[in-house]
Amino acid sequence: MLKPNSGESSSLYFAYCIPQFVRKSFVNTKPILGLAATDRRITAGSSQSMEMAQLNETIKKLRENGCKTKINNIYKTKKGAIIKVPNEENINTLMNQLKNNGSLSKISKIYTPTPLDPTIVLKSVNKSTDLSNLNSVLCDMNQELADCKYKIKILFPMKSNTSSHDVVLRVAPSAYEIIKRMKHIYTISQVVEVRDKVLVRQCQTCFQFDHNTKMCTNQKINIIGPDNIVKCVNCNGHNKFKENSNHYPNNRECPLYLNQINRTIQRTCYNSLDHDIISSSSRSSESD
Ligand SMILES: [Zn+2]
Ligand SMILES: [Zn+2]
Repeated sequence: MLKPNSGESSSLYFAYCIPQFVRKSFVNTKPILGLAATDRRITAGSSQSMEMAQLNETIKKLRENGCKTKINNIYKTKKGAIIKVPNEENINTLMNQLKNNGSLSKISKIYTPTPLDPTIVLKSVNKSTDLSNLNSVLCDMNQELADCKYKIKILFPMKSNTSSHDVVLRVAPSAYEIIKRMKHIYTISQVVEVRDKVLVRQCQTCFQFDHNTKMCTNQKINIIGPDNIVKCVNCNGHNKFKENSNHYPNNRECPLYLNQINRTIQRTCYNSLDHDIISSSSRSSESD
């Protein structure tokens, strides 16, 4: 659709979009990119799987006692649950009320997790572009980002066989908001398109989600079996999805992979927070 390298009209360059699969999963809850309201949450976790019934029962009891803190949604996780509340609500009030309920704090730890900073991708960046100082260049070349040098971190380029590659960045929520408003973003020699990029941790050897490839101690899993049929190892071993596992384990066709994407989005703060993400210790080693 939009080509970052081929036109003059600045308004055509920019396609700030959340990929379709993300959009779909949020369609019933929050407006696209309006994720801030859901970014604050309380996580209740325990070593054993927490009974959702107990959480629901507790909330019912709090309501009966006059607790009016609004809740956007409750998500069950492997070891507990995530409660999301609107930004304007006082999350500590709710946390204390949950903590003061004896039965719930006995089986779970109740805390507010640190939110993740958003990740984005610069599309089709010329491979000749120096990535070591790209964060500074972006701030020099785009006036809107003048104060964001320490709020943009270049993570890595995506593999590519052409003369350009996509470059993944982590940005502070405040920088994310600015970039979201910009029509296009300039590197040293290009104008490029920016998109959201949700990073999922997944081992590319055994395709499990709880460790990365370097840490893997498992045997290499072949996606394409001896019968020449694609099989997702994760769905194949899953009660609910094993009948429908003829897809790659590392793309959005896989419901378990999609689930990981959504969990990452739920943990990410897309606005309202302003902080540096390049630590002061690593600043001194920067080349500029
Ligand atoms: Zn592995
Ligand atoms: Zn799958």
